Amino acid sequence: MLFTKISVVLATLAASVFAAPHKRQLAQVITTCTEPNTVALTFDDGPYYYIYDISRTLAAANATGTFFFNGNNYGCIYNADNAKRIKYAHDHGHQVASHTWGHKDLATLTWDEIHDEMWRVEEALLKITGAYPAFTRPPFGSYNDLVRQAAAVRGQALANWDFETGDAVGVTVPEQYAKIDELIARHPNTILSLQHETIASTMTEVLPYFLQQLQGAGYRLVSVAECTGLPAYQYVTEPQQPDETWQC
Ligand SMILES: [Zn+2]
Repeated sequence: MLFTKISVVLATLAASVFAAPHKRQLAQVITTCTEPNTVALTFDDGPYYYIYDISRTLAAANATGTFFFNGNNYGCIYNADNAKRIKYAHDHGHQVASHTWGHKDLATLTWDEIHDEMWRVEEALLKITGAYPAFTRPPFGSYNDLVRQAAAVRGQALANWDFETGDAVGVTVPEQYAKIDELIARHPNTILSLQHETIASTMTEVLPYFLQQLQGAGYRLVSVAECTGLPAYQYVTEPQQPDETWQC
């Protein structure tokens, strides 16, 4: 019942507060961690098959990951398997965050369309985990002031990155190792890394290598929230049970 009421309140907000985009605050755009000696490993485009192995590999290295989930990209977020994957990541201490509903380029959308892309996945993550996310990664890292205004209204910080392995754009595994080696040799104070949950070689080869190198370099492997000193969630309540609203 509580959630029905929350939905009504949010729908009312959508109709009123969200309607006037002018002169709004701009959401914070994060590209780097601020806590010294931290690394945030982030994984986009799930929920996907490989999340259990990625989570176990992170746990074995005493690392916390951050997963930026879509609502309907590789599959519907409410499918039993996908909901289970998200709940698993959340319950194993990883940060759960939004990668928007359908992986559209937000900078090409209207005010209402941006909110629709953001709101639907936020609601899904709340239902599945009980946590309302405070971080959104815009698809393709793409945003404009309208996107930042919409994100600010929704209490979302926009989180991009300062290092990527290039796993989703055809960079080979040896090339990814070379990028990691170069990064470790440079030894930046902090690292905010982008990888993809949907790439098999990220799970089986590159992530284990990356973790080994990062640990050897003495970094602390934490969530984006921890590495920026910001809260991961706007609020936390009990997860819900699937009902007729769990559909895409
Ligand atoms: Zn993506």
